Amino acid sequence: MAADPDCIFCKIIAGEIPCFRLYEDDATLAFMDINPANDGHVLVIPKEHSADVHAVSADAITATVLTAQKIAAAVQKTLEPDGLNLLQCNGPAAAQSVFHFHMHVLPRKNGDALKMNWGLNPGDMDRIGEIAERIRANL
Ligand code: AMP
Ligand code: ZN
Repeated sequence: MAADPDCIFCKIIAGEIPCFRLYEDDATLAFMDINPANDGHVLVIPKEHSADVHAVSADAITATVLTAQKIAAAVQKTLEPDGLNLLQCNGPAAAQSVFHFHMHVLPRKNGDALKMNWGLNPGDMDRIGEIAERIRANL
């Protein structure tokens, strides 16, 4: 599987960097975002490295969307958010900060006024870990 030794998400896939792992199959990995825009913010990535939507293979993007749907269901059941975005960012104007294709599963609250480029603020690791455990139980 294609990997980039300098890519932080490839390092997470390889287990070289820790993550709050939720789900894994042959083609994809889902884990908690450590700078959550809202509680229950999850990232879904293909294991095959590619930078963005222009580079990702058809198989990898398909597998990623299917895993994102599975995660969205578990997040919905666990946290019962008022809404939920599946989204994916490409390039600087879209605030892409990690150049390994990924999808955000992003729970929404009524009135949270979240902007598309929401900024990165470190979350509380204990809280993220506790939410991860609850989502895992619904997968
Ligand atoms: P994007 O801005 O679409 O490129 O999103 C990249 C996301 O990766 C951001 O929401 C970051 O908070 C998240 N992120 C970066 N490093 C890590 C990490 N080590 N573990 C979990 N999430 C991360
Ligand atoms: Zn990578």
